[in-house]
Amino acid sequence: MSAENDKGTIEVINPADGSRVGTIPAGTAEDVGAAVDNASGAIGKWSELLPRERGKILFNAATAIRKDRDRLATLLTSEQGKPLAEAKNEIAGCANVFEYYASISGSIKGEALPRSDYGYSFTIKKPLGVCGAIIPWNMPALIMAWKTGPALVAGNALVIKPASSTPLTCLEIASVIRGAGVPEDILRVTPGSGGEVGTAIASHPEIRAVSFTGSTETGKEVEEAACGTGKHLTLELGGSDPMIVCDDADIAAAAAGAIAGRFYNCGQTCTAVKRLFVFEDVADEFTGALQAVAEKITIGNGLSPGIRMGPLNSSLGREKIEKLVEGIRESGDGTIIAGGKRPEGSEYDKGFFYEPTIVSGVSGDSPLMNEEVFGPVLPVAVVSGMDEAIEAANSTRYGLGASIWTKSISRAARVAEEIDAGIVWVNKHLKIPPEVPFGGEKASGTGRENGIYAPDRYMTEKTVIITP
Ligand code: NAP
Repeated sequence: MSAENDKGTIEVINPADGSRVGTIPAGTAEDVGAAVDNASGAIGKWSELLPRERGKILFNAATAIRKDRDRLATLLTSEQGKPLAEAKNEIAGCANVFEYYASISGSIKGEALPRSDYGYSFTIKKPLGVCGAIIPWNMPALIMAWKTGPALVAGNALVIKPASSTPLTCLEIASVIRGAGVPEDILRVTPGSGGEVGTAIASHPEIRAVSFTGSTETGKEVEEAACGTGKHLTLELGGSDPMIVCDDADIAAAAAGAIAGRFYNCGQTCTAVKRLFVFEDVADEFTGALQAVAEKITIGNGLSPGIRMGPLNSSLGREKIEKLVEGIRESGDGTIIAGGKRPEGSEYDKGFFYEPTIVSGVSGDSPLMNEEVFGPVLPVAVVSGMDEAIEAANSTRYGLGASIWTKSISRAARVAEEIDAGIVWVNKHLKIPPEVPFGGEKASGTGRENGIYAPDRYMTEKTVIITP
């Protein structure tokens, strides 16, 4: 959590106990302008390096991040709240992304085109120049890597705005990356408010591409600020992922997958399992298994050993969850079968903790089934079969991820084909390796990150025609 005060600083607060993790200067629109000017001066040398030379530097960055994993993970837990094991996982994932882009650096290329009436043609790929990235607080290290890896390997400079509640991990990772050989002016992290620093990045005429990850509502503001600047926009926005559990699913595995998929990072993950649809024949068995696993989740300060779920990142985030759960109690639309309140005990008094909560028998009209719920609440609805499951799954404005749990290849294939989502898992949810493209449909965004084509988001393509 953070508070920007009138002294022009950002105070970063540990969401587990309210202690101060650090205080840093808040950047301004002028700082963005200066970062762009400096990057423009430095870009020539960086973009002229052979891509595989940049790859070597990114490989060194991955190694340095991995070496520094424990320190970075401790900082991440302190400002974000997630358990240390999850934070270590995220830092390792961040290193993997840099290593992946290092590994494909030598493959960045245009293509040879068929001979035409005018002779031979081919394309060359060129970096855009200075690019921007705006990052949320839920996975700051991983999402920073998703943008920085492809932008830098393609030969660009990057100005990053971290979320105001988690700027410290991004600042430290940038410093590790610079220590590995990326020039100072090629990678800049400018903390500051979304309204000022975020808007300055989105609207800056010399920033040629922006990759934004955050809520659908802020995504619209970024789009508006960027309008008329002609920049490439990648928008990775909110989601309300459905998970479908069929009557032939491995129930224990599906229950464990749903719990991990919903309560990882205290439910604050874009591709968390946010709506669960279970076939009626296995509904009781599955719901019982869910309840049993949920009750074993240990809650507490993520830095303490054995903790499975930390606090929410902000008091506002917890208030939103509390309001939703109160709404369920008042409307009677759903039965709270686990959690539904703050945990009791003095160790929870100063943090933004909330129990893992499961609500069964939720109707399609419930806010839990229509809006993105960014916290530890899992709504469960019973469906009669595949037709109803697919219709319900597609009934929101979102289209980020989805999963089906089944042993039937034809059911899996149907869901892969018919669900509105950028990524579909079969017997898995949440995992996104750097090799696979990732992004959303509908209100979940536009453009893809990860995978071999991600550097294209930060490049332009020039066609050359040679008439002999
Ligand atoms: P958010 O409130 O939209 O903020 C995201 C980032 O945008 C922050 O750095 C924020 O800065 C900045 N920002 C705020 N207002 C801005 C503006 N007017 N112009 C430019 N930037 C602005 O989202 P969040 O609460 O941090 O993150 C949670 C959301 O992100 C959820 O909806 C989640 O699903 C989504 N998400 C999507 C993906 C994906 O890949 N699709 C991945 C992770 C998260 P401040 O912190 O200073 O406000």
